[in-house]
Amino acid sequence: MKPDFKGRRALVTGAGKGIGREITRCLVDCNASVLALSRTESDLESLQEEAGCEAICVDLGDVAATREALAAAGDVELLVNNAGISILEPFLEVTVEAFDDVMAVNVRGVLIVSQIIARGMIGQGRGGATVNLSSQASTRALADHTSYCASKGALDQLTRMMALELGPHNIRVNAVNPTVTLTPMGEMAWGDPAKSGPVLARIPLGRFAQPLQVAEAVGWLLSDAADMVHGVTLSVDGGFSVS
Ligand code: NAP
Repeated sequence: MKPDFKGRRALVTGAGKGIGREITRCLVDCNASVLALSRTESDLESLQEEAGCEAICVDLGDVAATREALAAAGDVELLVNNAGISILEPFLEVTVEAFDDVMAVNVRGVLIVSQIIARGMIGQGRGGATVNLSSQASTRALADHTSYCASKGALDQLTRMMALELGPHNIRVNAVNPTVTLTPMGEMAWGDPAKSGPVLARIPLGRFAQPLQVAEAVGWLLSDAADMVHGVTLSVDGGFSVS
């Protein structure tokens, strides 16, 4: 059933490409008023034309700039922490710079954005809902994904902490954990069939995810249909995590 978010304002981070762009389109289609945040201006311009959303251009790795940009975000009731990056390196070659960059966006960025938006939700007194874009990589080791896997494991725990401490304010917090999804990031990490083949072989449904399949799960978790669902990490992985 399609949710109706009429009268609700949503913030989607990493909205310029891939899963975030699809989530933005879906939320607009469900009558939400969407504030799309990303870091490439041209992506946001084309998204605004396509979906009719508002836009904020900022790099979530920059804490001061993020705080300043979100100061005027307005009354957000639905938050999707989708922005994420992946830098592939074998474990023995992981650099401090790459590790810090991945953590800064995938974990610290979620903390900073969520603190700002949750304070606003509490101030409005109407509660809200948040979905964090985690990954199958939060619980499974994937070759060359040390920084990314560590960041998504941390994000699952950040999700649980947010659920624990924001739940009493009627702010629901959950995570969605997709398998490989066909986006620019998915292509970068898994475009080589020699790498993606073994992962695909571990998925009982025998296919990778489409951005729309992830966006539908996010939409459900944000909706009143999921009113009692709180603190979960929802696999959207074709069964990858059963083995
Ligand atoms: P994507 O294709 O690389 O798109 C990510 C979007 O986020 C881009 O618009 C990017 O902007 C933006 N972004 C990245 N870093 C940012 C920053 N510091 N500040 C603001 N915006 C930033 O990625 P995706 O595949 O859609 O992934 C979306 C989320 O799903 C991520 O959290 C990812 O970890 C997760 N996920 C992806 C997969 C997969 O296989 N694709 C699987 C599981 C989970 P720029 O292009 O301008 O940098």
